[in-house]
Amino acid sequence: MKTCVIGAGVSGLAVAKLLNDNFDVEILEADEQIGGIAKTKTVDGIAYHMIGGHCFNSNYKEVRDFVFSIYEKDKWNLKSRTAKIFLDGHFISYPIEFSVPEIAKFDRELAFNITNDFFCARYDDPKNLEEWFLQKFGETLAKKYFLPYSKKIWGEDPAVMSYLWVEDKLPSPNKKDFFESLLKKKQDDMPHVSFYYPITNDQNTFLHALAAGLNILTSYKVNSIEQIGGRWCINGNRYYDTIISTIPLNEIPFILNNTPLYVKNIAEKLRYNKITTMLWSAKDTEQTWSYFPAENTIFHRHIHIGNFFSPKWNYIITEALGIWPYEQMVSEGRKFEYLIQPLDFNISNHAYVVYDKNYEKSKKCVLNYLNDQKIYSLGRFGEWEYYNMDVCIKSATSLFEKIVRENLK
Ligand SMILES: Cc1cc2nc3c(=O)[nH]c(=O)nc-3n(C[C@H](O)[C@H](O)[C@H](O)COP(=O)(O)OP(=O)(O)OC[C@H]3O[C@@H](n4cnc5c(N)ncnc54)[C@H](O)[C@@H]3O)c2cc1C
Repeated sequence: MKTCVIGAGVSGLAVAKLLNDNFDVEILEADEQIGGIAKTKTVDGIAYHMIGGHCFNSNYKEVRDFVFSIYEKDKWNLKSRTAKIFLDGHFISYPIEFSVPEIAKFDRELAFNITNDFFCARYDDPKNLEEWFLQKFGETLAKKYFLPYSKKIWGEDPAVMSYLWVEDKLPSPNKKDFFESLLKKKQDDMPHVSFYYPITNDQNTFLHALAAGLNILTSYKVNSIEQIGGRWCINGNRYYDTIISTIPLNEIPFILNNTPLYVKNIAEKLRYNKITTMLWSAKDTEQTWSYFPAENTIFHRHIHIGNFFSPKWNYIITEALGIWPYEQMVSEGRKFEYLIQPLDFNISNHAYVVYDKNYEKSKKCVLNYLNDQKIYSLGRFGEWEYYNMDVCIKSATSLFEKIVRENLK
């Protein structure tokens, strides 16, 4: 069975790797480089994550086992997360809800209000993302941090967004944990509390290990998919029995021949965000990454990428949601005394799925149509979900098992 995987991001590479022993698999990738949004580029001798900083960990044992079977565990450094939030001119530890004693050192009233509101908050059937934050964390913390940060990262009012994505993305402590954190330093249990980064100091080495032995055609953009004689024909001249697509759901209806207008119309409603990044040489810092909720900077996050490396190097990636010109990224960077010199700059294509009110209905409609056509759609934008690399791999594993069940009985 000749299988085409469209896209050599983490999802496409992982499913192709799993299928490769039993099927004739070919990957078609539009970019000249593999790795999708997780890839890096060498600048000034270091790995620049053009679409934002990446590190790996997973709560799923099967995903860790798969990753370490591809790229052995002793080829990764295990690092501790040192994430900070810049609040009212002070860097405090992430997650903010466990840092009330740090806040009390510069603003006792704010610390009291956070505590009071957290204990008074009642979780009661939130209707949108704004209500979810207010009900989970209380009014002060929601208004001081979660709502402004969300507005920045989504470019959307949380009052008109769904909260369905949020639960496994953020630490969500109960009142007892919050109380314990007032007495002694407490850590959350998110997967990136500690994380793996390749000992080569470049995530591309993992991506290339994943790609090893696979048949990949790069710089090959899929522009048309049609049924001819019971097989799939791509760009009019390549024939396959099965297609696995990681093409974004808002684009594939316009590539797949004969897609009905109602599916195209609904696909156009799927919203996503781009991200602009800049790589800087920097002064020594202790953080692995920092968050900036305030409106006085366009940056929402700094990735202190040099602190992912061993030994550490002084480089930082600044991230701003949306499209920003080079000059503005530079002038924003000048507000931070630890950023020294801009070295490179990138504007992404798809970076984040936006969970607006259309998201669920539109996504379901396009996926159902692809399912009826017997096209498997996979990955962060192929399933239109806020997936990290590990969840992409988990989803690739489930798809592999499904294809084996259906085809190798
Ligand atoms: C800023 C940021 C930070 C992140 N940080 C982390 C992190 O720290 N840890 C983590 O685990 N995850 C992180 N992620 C998530 C992670 O990047 C993704 O989950 C993962 O890389 C998605 O892989 P994918 O293969 O599903 O999609 P993609 O990487 O988007 O791959 C899709 C591929 O398909 C190709 N393609 C699209 N259309 C066509 C076409 N018509 N023809 C041919 N090829 C095509 C694209 O060129 C691309 O290579 C982060 C994401 C972002 C945006």
